[in-house]
Amino acid sequence: MPQFLSDPDEETLQSIVEALAGSGQAVSVYDAEDNLRYANETYRGMFLRDYEGPFTFSDILRYGAANGFGVRIDDGDVEALIARTLPRRRSTRRKSFETDLLDGRWFWIEHTLLPNGWVMTVGTDISALKHNEKSLRQAHESALLASRTDLLTGLPNRRYILELLDEGLAAGMASGAGLCVAIIDIDQFKTVNDTYGHEAGDAVLRHFAQIFRESLRPGNHIGRIGGEEFLLLADDRFDDADRLINGIRASFPPVTMPDQATRRPIAFSAGLTAALPHDDRSSILYRADRALYVAKAEGRNCTRIGFGMDRAAPSHVAAQEKTADRT
Ligand code: GH3
Ligand code: MG
Ligand code: MG
Repeated sequence: MPQFLSDPDEETLQSIVEALAGSGQAVSVYDAEDNLRYANETYRGMFLRDYEGPFTFSDILRYGAANGFGVRIDDGDVEALIARTLPRRRSTRRKSFETDLLDGRWFWIEHTLLPNGWVMTVGTDISALKHNEKSLRQAHESALLASRTDLLTGLPNRRYILELLDEGLAAGMASGAGLCVAIIDIDQFKTVNDTYGHEAGDAVLRHFAQIFRESLRPGNHIGRIGGEEFLLLADDRFDDADRLINGIRASFPPVTMPDQATRRPIAFSAGLTAALPHDDRSSILYRADRALYVAKAEGRNCTRIGFGMDRAAPSHVAAQEKTADRT
């Protein structure tokens, strides 16, 4: 092997050390007893500052933790960190990992174990990358949220509530837990638009959404699937879901129109059904939709129940058939 690669002379070594000293990378060398033998300026700024020793790896960590700088420790327990880290410090010849500092910077650390038991670390500042990663992640999350949210009401939009329906059906099949589905449609909504204008119609939709959002507990969902049509998913027993809808109906507050003077009551009709074994999205929505049609045909402002065309209703649904009529 050529001499310049394998065996640097004194002058070359000196140049290497000088280059490391001024490098933006954080360089440290610890001996086999874990005493710090060399630290360049960047490393000293990260972990030492005005520390005067003793310069063992553990003591340096302790000093930073006690003085509010150095490595960020999630649970704040520096002794636990030392206990976790020490046994692994010389377990492999090379490893690399990222670490973040209390000052907000992130470093990518290359850790090299030398044959004599010494350890060299070289840290590269990756803060800019991490911040990019974070803003990309945040952008992704807000894009995802936007793609799932109905702009007018803030509720899950059609695509997302139908995804939740699919998930609910799959989970119910796996666990045998109950899932009830209702299509809810505001009554005579067109007359709101016709009488008070489209803005007033929008205010009614927002009001409707808000009341339902406030009335549902976690695990139940409502989304907007069309103009004034909503889909309710309740992981309830059938009679509880029926009671829930009728309770909301009974206490539904009137909406204040954009003129701030007019208050108008709101009524809605619901087609409610419980998931049957082997239901899929279209079979369960078909039953709910037929039930909604019956509710409209029978005078509105009521809930009607959807049963399978060619399947028997489950016993808990059948038991409710008579009592669910709240016209
Ligand atoms: P029914 O009791 O039979 O449901 O009668 P309806 O008037 O509620 O139903 P219809 O289907 O006749 O009218 C629904 C209206 O909803 C028609 C449409 O212009 C209006 N609409 C749909 N989307 C929006 C919206 O985002 N904002 C407003 N203001 N109106 C909307
Ligand atoms: Mg309607
Ligand atoms: Mg409608």
